[in-house]
Amino acid sequence: MKIKDILEKKGAHISFEVFPPKTESGKESVLQAVKELITLQPDFISVTYGAGGGTSSQTAGIAAAISKAGVTSLAHLTCVSSTREQVHQVIDRLKEEGIENILALRGDIPDSGQFPLPNHYRYASELIEDIRTRGDFCIGAACYPEGHVETPHKKDDIRHLKEKVDCGVDFLTTQMFFDNHILYNFLYRIREKGITVPVIPGIMPVTNAKQMQRICQLSGTVLPARFLAILDRFGENSAAMEQAGIAYATDQIIDLLANGIRQVHIYTMNKPEIGRKILENISQIIRV
Ligand code: FAD
Repeated sequence: MKIKDILEKKGAHISFEVFPPKTESGKESVLQAVKELITLQPDFISVTYGAGGGTSSQTAGIAAAISKAGVTSLAHLTCVSSTREQVHQVIDRLKEEGIENILALRGDIPDSGQFPLPNHYRYASELIEDIRTRGDFCIGAACYPEGHVETPHKKDDIRHLKEKVDCGVDFLTTQMFFDNHILYNFLYRIREKGITVPVIPGIMPVTNAKQMQRICQLSGTVLPARFLAILDRFGENSAAMEQAGIAYATDQIIDLLANGIRQVHIYTMNKPEIGRKILENISQIIRV
């Protein structure tokens, strides 16, 4: 099913995310995680895409397995490290596999700094235009409530976002954020600029403090004092950190739903128990 049609349905919509294994041998454990996530009846499950290398070829296969099990899948696709021909091949494979939803991404600029390479894409908007010509896909794209690191001024980032959406985006998924007010302010700003497509907030239940601090430094994500205190106090104890991370994510989701947001994407990171615990915490809330 197309995600834009799912989002039009009444009620709250919850989705999960998995990432492909680095090697072929890791595929079984990812498929097991997918199986367990499916029992939680999410509205869809997304599969990330490694920019080049081994994991990129796994995305289509895992997304196809999700669809075959009767759950809508969303295949991520990045373009910056591949030629246009290589990207076209991936799009055609997704079409053959019957995958209807693609999250069209540029990907991070390669460390070599050579950007863009000849016959390569420069921005996600170019990829979106290409996907549109190659099939009847529902296309999602990324957005950044705190702004994307490469664009110093938020208003420029929102202008680029509007141009991207106008290329044919059906919905947006956000980068993780830990202060809901940042999302509410972002929504008000993009709506004011005429971006009207649904926005799915991405919520990251933090279970590994060190890894998360590094990711947030790179992406420029602000860590509120309340969240920093949790990392500081429980970061060294993985069981305590997991419990606190799930509670914090639950709190964010309840606040979003209480403020009229109807869809939330949970970055479950191949850990079905995280999805299960959060869903248990909000089981009555999502029925309202
Ligand atoms: P774009 O939309 O192209 O934007 C990139 C930058 O260029 C922004 O700063 C934007 O303001 C600027 N820009 C856009 N158009 C113009 C223009 N015309 N002129 C000047 N500047 C412009 N990465 C992966 O490798 N695999 C994944 O599976 C993956 N999944 C993700 C899922 C989500 C929900 C999010 C939020 C990010 C994900 N990423 C993933 C990371 C993403 O690839 C990086 O953040 C990347 O740096 C930007 O990708 P984009 O599609 O947002 O790029």
